[in-house]
Amino acid sequence: MSLFGHAEFFRTVYRPQELPPDRGAEVAFAGRSNAGKSSALNALLNRQRLARVSKRPGRTQAINFFNLGGARYLVDLPGYGYAAVPQAQREHWGELVSVYLMSRACLRGLVLICDVRRSLGPLDHQLLEWLAPTGKPIHVLLTKTDKLARAPGAAALEHATQTLRIYPGVTVQLFSSVTQSGLPAARKVIAGWLQ
Ligand code: GDP
Repeated sequence: MSLFGHAEFFRTVYRPQELPPDRGAEVAFAGRSNAGKSSALNALLNRQRLARVSKRPGRTQAINFFNLGGARYLVDLPGYGYAAVPQAQREHWGELVSVYLMSRACLRGLVLICDVRRSLGPLDHQLLEWLAPTGKPIHVLLTKTDKLARAPGAAALEHATQTLRIYPGVTVQLFSSVTQSGLPAARKVIAGWLQ
């Protein structure tokens, strides 16, 4: 917990050229809009609204950095998959996120947030394909598991594990920001990457 107990909002970045110096250690969070990424970040950081606070309208296509102390950061990538988003904004998302994922040396791993009740979408796969050549690990949180009974939750975990086999270095777990189920396991993976 101590690593996650003192997080502070650090910076918002709209364009690749605004990225802070590529130093220290970062773990990035990605996911379809409404999958539960802000809630997962707040649960991990034991805060009510840290991730949401910096998420004002107009910032949705931005990357938000949270400092954990000692040059370690959690990085909130813009959500995706909203059908109503104009094409220009989609292209901006693609440029910002692909440049970040493919070129960031201090990126230690990616946490992909997926609603446990939905299967992975094309943009989830796109992210995994951008990161795969770097060989960096990916940890998938199948979140909102409190909305499912145990058996369908286990089935969703099995299905995701099979689907993600094509990407080396991917691990998957069940998670709930509401019940905090899976929280210690998720913190352990992230802390291991940031060490
Ligand atoms: P984001 O767009 O990915 O950042 O998603 P949010 O964190 O804003 O969550 C989207 C909606 O899902 C909100 O109404 C949350 O309250 C809800 N939500 C997020 N995580 C969970 C969870 O683990 N369980 C339940 N039941 N609802 C959740």
